[in-house]
Amino acid sequence: MSFEIMDKDLLGRIGKFETKSGKMETPLLFPVINPGIQPISPKKLKNEFGCKALITNAYIVNKNFKKIAVEKGLHDFLDFDGSIMTDSGAYQLLIYKGVETTPKKIVQFQEAIDTDIATILDIPTGWGVSKEYAKYTVTETIKRAKALEKMKSRDELAWVGPVQGGQYLDLVAKSAKAMGKLPFQIHALGSPTPVMEQYKFDVLVDMILTAKMNLPPDRPLHLFGAGHPFMFAMAVALGCDLFDSAAYALFARQDRYLTDSGTKRLSELEYFPCSCPVCNNTDPKTVKELSKDERHRLLAEHNLHVSFGELRRIKLAVTEGRLWEHMEMRAYGHPTLLQALKKVIKYSNFIEKHSPVHKKGGIFLFSSLSLARPEVVRYQKKLTEYETPQKAKVLLLLPQTLKKPFCTSKEHQTILENIQEKIPDKVDLIHVCTYAAPFGVVPTELDDVYPVSQNIMASPFDDETITYVAKQTENYIKSSDYKNAVLLREPKVWKGKILSACKRACKKKQISLNISHRKDPWNEKTLEELVNEIQQTLLAI
Ligand SMILES: [Zn+2]
Repeated sequence: MSFEIMDKDLLGRIGKFETKSGKMETPLLFPVINPGIQPISPKKLKNEFGCKALITNAYIVNKNFKKIAVEKGLHDFLDFDGSIMTDSGAYQLLIYKGVETTPKKIVQFQEAIDTDIATILDIPTGWGVSKEYAKYTVTETIKRAKALEKMKSRDELAWVGPVQGGQYLDLVAKSAKAMGKLPFQIHALGSPTPVMEQYKFDVLVDMILTAKMNLPPDRPLHLFGAGHPFMFAMAVALGCDLFDSAAYALFARQDRYLTDSGTKRLSELEYFPCSCPVCNNTDPKTVKELSKDERHRLLAEHNLHVSFGELRRIKLAVTEGRLWEHMEMRAYGHPTLLQALKKVIKYSNFIEKHSPVHKKGGIFLFSSLSLARPEVVRYQKKLTEYETPQKAKVLLLLPQTLKKPFCTSKEHQTILENIQEKIPDKVDLIHVCTYAAPFGVVPTELDDVYPVSQNIMASPFDDETITYVAKQTENYIKSSDYKNAVLLREPKVWKGKILSACKRACKKKQISLNISHRKDPWNEKTLEELVNEIQQTLLAI
């Protein structure tokens, strides 16, 4: 098995992934096939949905179809020649407490039926368990993982090393570290299903990122039981590569209809908000009147179409460098996802460290949540290493302009021309900087560094954004060596917060602060006064 990363955005990646049965592209969704109940046959999944991989449960196959599956092999048994992943029965262990197999038997069975991706019989931690029990699940899973080498007899199968620990993040870290040292080809985050069923996506963010921080980055990560398309964007952005969906069929059986932003009941739908082949050819009223089996089949098909469609949109977002925008847009689809996005912010440094530096296009910022984007975090890091020009004595802080780079705007140009005209011999002493959302202080030299000029942020800015820019401005002045500062205010936009920040910083540095007094920064009179102010300031040096 091989995994090659082709493109990246945030921690999300598009990868080429190969098993003994063929090549696939990640992020990849494995539809779950229950050999007993198949609303959509594996053959149809391949021919009509373009599915290159699916997942089935080795425990269920072993229990109910052992003889025929071993005789024919899993691919013939399911009539599917793509890649097949098998789960080991750990989920059944979680639900029914105890399964009728052993770690060794399930390893040997998966080899016997010739699966492509196999899973050891791990012990899922589950939700709401004691720390002591969680510790046991981690230790026992590691023990079984270590024993795999002695149990298996074939090398062509890819093996999944599940990470346990549940909501105990120290245990997730321990489990991920230990599993990462073993020769697994894939890792999986175990037992998030109960967390997801209760919509605790903020907990899931902690679990995923703790696992990511402790696993080898070059192995794909599978998020077990995460089949709802509305959380794919966030999961991919956090570095999950593989998903399985039982949801498409389970929800269909309950007459539920998946969308990019949640779940709807068929009984409540007046229209189908989708353009998949199913929804294009019928309407809710007609579907409601169909037989149970037919209705469930159509809903399952729609549910899969919408899941694959969302994965394609996510992949496109990765190639465009717009995964953050896509994740943020989805987060507004459900309050619990927005809550989870607020948790993602806690990990902004880790995400920045592993996000690509170069992007094709500009970025969109919708609110203060966008301040956790790697581009913004990275700029702050860059600014702390930035050295002001040696001759600069006076900091001239100008408001941002609509035109970017700011130094090319008519407003900034007019000020510079005025300064040049009135005090030509002292121009070098003045350092022109812009205060702007989302980056804070932008020295003119960094004005066209990506993405300072390649971004659009929604205005008027929210309070958190204004506070953030003010704080960055304060920090910048505190860490520099100017003798004086001159601030061109724009109180309508910044609500006095930039002024207060400058006052605090200048007081701390014991340097004088001169400010413009008019409310409109670009008024001719204001500019005239500003240049006089600078002239006076320079005379004082
Ligand atoms: Zn549809």
